[in-house]
Amino acid sequence: MIDAAFMENPCANLQVVVLMGGLGTRLKEYTKETPKSLVEVKGRPFFDYELMLLKHYGFRRFLFLIGYKAEMIEEYYGDGSSQGISIQYCYDGKELLGTGGAIRRAYPYLEDDFLVIYGDSFMDIDYEETIYRYYQGRREGKRALMTVLKNGDRFDKSNVVCKNNEIVLYDKKNTTPEMEYIDYGVCIYEKALFADFEEGTPFDVAVLQNRLSLRGELAAHVVTKRFYEIGSPAALQEFSEYIEKRLYQKRPAVFLDRDGVLDEIVFNEDIEQLDAPLSLSEFRLFDYAKEAVSLFIEKGYYVFIATNQPAAGKGKARLSTLYDINTAMILSFQEAGIELEAVYACYHYPKRLAYINDHNPCFEPFLVKNCDCRKPKPGLILRPKDIYNIDYDNSYMIGDSITDLQAGQAAGVKTVFVGELKCDACKKLCDVKLDLTVKNVLEAAKQIKGV
Ligand SMILES: [Mg+2]
Repeated sequence: MIDAAFMENPCANLQVVVLMGGLGTRLKEYTKETPKSLVEVKGRPFFDYELMLLKHYGFRRFLFLIGYKAEMIEEYYGDGSSQGISIQYCYDGKELLGTGGAIRRAYPYLEDDFLVIYGDSFMDIDYEETIYRYYQGRREGKRALMTVLKNGDRFDKSNVVCKNNEIVLYDKKNTTPEMEYIDYGVCIYEKALFADFEEGTPFDVAVLQNRLSLRGELAAHVVTKRFYEIGSPAALQEFSEYIEKRLYQKRPAVFLDRDGVLDEIVFNEDIEQLDAPLSLSEFRLFDYAKEAVSLFIEKGYYVFIATNQPAAGKGKARLSTLYDINTAMILSFQEAGIELEAVYACYHYPKRLAYINDHNPCFEPFLVKNCDCRKPKPGLILRPKDIYNIDYDNSYMIGDSITDLQAGQAAGVKTVFVGELKCDACKKLCDVKLDLTVKNVLEAAKQIKGV
């Protein structure tokens, strides 16, 4: 079982190792005086933006592996205390060691398990899911995790075969037609793996990843949001435009409840009640769901999903299955060219149900807690507040339950009720400010005015 205390706050408990030693050769007009991570984007060092994300997800303990113009990085970030985090440094030394060699050199600073990212990339993924999948993999004999993106050769040549949350083959030199995914740049490792390499010998961490994939020891987290990096002037320009829109221009959002709004509620025979889908085969989008989301985006809104998914907290489904359902949903939208901004799900349940015991294979005790995200609390709607520039006054929460509307009201956004106002609902609803009632989400998308 995954350690419950650790998983209460997984990001705060895991060390983040940041590879920052690179020379930035392709960016040389920018990196003559500055290390790549500190190249300025909209008046701030690039890495500030990635650090904003990492802090948002809850990471607190960092180890920066620095080389080129190392002292500038250490001078700028210091020990991290002014930002409420802690930063240690390890210098690459005179020789270029490659990514693997740099991690090996830092061996005395490494904790038993650690996450590795690149200091020149902006990677907005659900890091809690990454960590969960790593520890789930550990139980099945895996020793590391790689995040991968379904690529279709969009960003670079695909180099990963991934099946059932396992990397079956990773090989960046010999790519094959079966490779549909690309390595995303976020990995988690067991420290002991690096003891097999000699200190001071240069190597690319891809060598280790390839070996692990061949031995069946590399777990996968399939992520769905593209990454940005600043490896070339064109990429730097692209990131600059992206971050300008995201952080410097205000834009409203629609927050959509999921079940009953985008997909069908299913009949759960075990409890003889209507319920959320608990497996991929039960998950069915309404035929108008894609048109509705596409219309919101066309009208200038971000589209976030804000959904309570307590089945894992209730011991009725594994968290991994709930993650799989959300990933499949996002991919299904992407196949139609539609980009959901993010899925924010509350997997918690406030009390331990009487029928649950520790031998229930579905039971994940860290999900039983009084959280800030379960609707009617506003946590899911407020979640992107510090990593986007959202115009909450003109944003909407759209849902088919009273709790959706209460959450919307508590977050200070407009509220839309999907469904028929029967009289028992009317009574409950009279306490909630309601801006619009519609029969389905497509109608809401048609009626809500563009930005
Ligand atoms: Mg619902």
